[in-house]
Amino acid sequence: MTNALEIYQLLPKTNCKECGKASCMAFAAALLSREVTVDDCPPLKEDKFKENYEKLSGMIKPAGEASESGMIVHEDKCIGCGNCVVACPVNVAEDPHGAGSGKAPTSENVILRVEDGVVRLSNVNQCRRFGKNKIMCNGCIVTCPTKAIEFV
Ligand code: SF4
Ligand code: SF4
Ligand code: SF4
Repeated sequence: MTNALEIYQLLPKTNCKECGKASCMAFAAALLSREVTVDDCPPLKEDKFKENYEKLSGMIKPAGEASESGMIVHEDKCIGCGNCVVACPVNVAEDPHGAGSGKAPTSENVILRVEDGVVRLSNVNQCRRFGKNKIMCNGCIVTCPTKAIEFV
C-alpha cells in the first residue's frame, strides 16, 4: 500500500484548493482515507499531469473497492500470516474447510485470502461491520500482528 507522502509527490503541489482541501498534502491524506477520489483534483486532469493521474488511479484502486465498506488493508504492513483469514467469521461460514481452517480457499465467497504473501480482499460487502444489520466485528483487526487492517 501507499502512504500520503507518495500520493502527495504525484499531485500538482500548487495548493490551489480547488479540491476543497487546504493543501495538496491535505488532499493526499483525504485520498488515502478514501474521503475523496483522484477525480476530485481538477488540475490533475490537465494533460501535463496525465501520467500522474494514471499512476494515482492505479495506486488508489486496489483499496478503492474496499473503501465502500471502509475497510483498508495496508499491504506494505501485511506479512501474510493469515491470522485474519481464519479469524473472519464470514470466511469460516463460507469456507469452513478451506480458508476458515487455515487452508487454501475453496470458495469464491471469502472476504480475506492470502495471495503471493499478502492478504487480498473480496466480497467486502459481506463484511459484518457493514450493511443494515452490522455488528462491530473486529476479528480481522485484532488478530493482525502488524496493524495492517483498518476501518476508515
Ligand atoms: S485541487 Fe489538486 S492541486 Fe489543488 S490543492 Fe487540491 S490536490 Fe492540490
Ligand atoms: S470485520 Fe469481521 S467480517 Fe469483516 S472482514 Fe473483518 S473479521 Fe471478517
Ligand atoms: S493478520 Fe495482518 S499481517 Fe496477517 S495476513 Fe492478515 S492483514 Fe496480513
